[in-house]
Amino acid sequence: MLDGWAERGSPLLIGGELVTCDRRFDTIDPATEEVLGPAADAMPGHLDRAIAAARRAFDESGWATDLTLRVRCLRQLQEALVRHGDELRDLTVREAGAPRFLTYGAQFDTPVSDLAWFARLAETYEWTRDLGRAAPMGMDSERRLLREPVGVVGAITPWNFPHQINLAKLGPALAAGNTVVLKPAPDTPWCAAALGRLLVEETDTPPGVVNIVTGRDHALGALLSADPRVDLVSFTGSTATGREVMRGAAETLKKVFLELGGKSAFIVLDDADLGKACSYAAFTGITHAGQGCAITSRLLVPRARHDEAVEITARTMAKLGARDPSDERTVCGPVISARQRDRIEGYLKLAAGEGGSFATGGHRSGRDKGFWIEPTLITGLTNRSRAAREEIFGPVLVMLPHDGDDDAVRLANDSPYGLSGAVHGGDPERARAVARRLRTGTVSVNGGIWYAADVPFGGYKQSGVGREMGVAGFEEYLETKAIAEGV
Ligand code: NAD
Repeated sequence: MLDGWAERGSPLLIGGELVTCDRRFDTIDPATEEVLGPAADAMPGHLDRAIAAARRAFDESGWATDLTLRVRCLRQLQEALVRHGDELRDLTVREAGAPRFLTYGAQFDTPVSDLAWFARLAETYEWTRDLGRAAPMGMDSERRLLREPVGVVGAITPWNFPHQINLAKLGPALAAGNTVVLKPAPDTPWCAAALGRLLVEETDTPPGVVNIVTGRDHALGALLSADPRVDLVSFTGSTATGREVMRGAAETLKKVFLELGGKSAFIVLDDADLGKACSYAAFTGITHAGQGCAITSRLLVPRARHDEAVEITARTMAKLGARDPSDERTVCGPVISARQRDRIEGYLKLAAGEGGSFATGGHRSGRDKGFWIEPTLITGLTNRSRAAREEIFGPVLVMLPHDGDDDAVRLANDSPYGLSGAVHGGDPERARAVARRLRTGTVSVNGGIWYAADVPFGGYKQSGVGREMGVAGFEEYLETKAIAEGV
């Protein structure tokens, strides 16, 4: 499916056509710095045509009202992704640096199968609701509620889980009857372009319903957010960029839906199995080199057992190490780019300057090629330090001692973010009580997995606005219309 891309480059998808670009940029394997090949580097004119095509498809085609067609196209896309699974799995490992084992879950298989969940939801959803007869102000009226698509969706996505995030936007947006312009991150253009090719060649999706505009310039995202022809912006990325998107969208007062950063806490209560909890925290904290927005990067442990917790966590992190992502046993691969590696190194220097010390790691790994940071455990900081407050987005955990359940909850909630969290404890009722007090969109108790198509995901505070996935995520892409008929 990717035949010829290494020479000709990946195309854009505009108005149902796969469009090659004279201007191109290289997409690279972060583990080796090897160039996979060029990707189309869209100009503002391409984006303009893509938005116009999406607008036309929404306003002038039957897409918004043809539920049967929409469901068929989603199922066709899912089947096509499964058919090309081996190639796309390899691509995800090479372009995103994703450890291969994750492609059997959140990096590929799960978001692909989740498309079927959205297709089924659209089939069974209560699109109209009868509110019955009433006589407000003495006028007998029959009232009905209609749920309708919002219109043209601008979807802006990051590189860390390219298929998961692209599909978690496309699935519900299309199921709801919207048309989409997808602007993926410059680091993973091929993962997005592959979707475009499958949509054109292996589904009945009408021209203009999905448009995919890859490009090196972040300004494409800013143009998409501000464009008056776009009705909703669905954004996943950093909190700083989320603010820009909201600002850009403000002029036309379009709906914004933001999935942003996090600095989530992993709380180990004093009745927990410390060995099990800390090993698990180490594993989850460095999975995909810590490049997951919901990763629990602050580890809160009972003060009395702090040193023991440091020893267990550091030992597990060092044993897992940073390794070749194509090996199925690898948990922590490379970070995405030189820029990201340098940014993480900047935080490691900052942490040392703030009085932190490294129980393991603390530096880049000694390879000649690729972008690698050794799994790092920082101790000796307080929750006020920048390394404990800001999102580092690398395989870096900060361990902080707590003085009991109330203190752990206070520390966990003392963050500008509120995306996720985890609680481990021996008494399930006590662990649940702590989970209920966390001001975050998702919490795992004793290893429970919240990630699934039917579970809404999103953040409190500066971690976002709105929810992705689940019925709540689907409804982000709907408007509500009330019709009252005089009788
Ligand atoms: P980023 O914010 O730099 O970029 C995200 C996307 O926004 C990219 O497509 C980029 O080109 C585009 N963009 C950049 N500037 C823009 C602007 N001014 N206007 C509109 N679009 C613009 O994020 P990233 O480095 O690609 O990804 C890492 C970040 O994403 C982390 O902060 C992480 O926590 C966050 N993230 C959040 C979630 C979530 O669901 N909450 C999921 C994954 C990643």
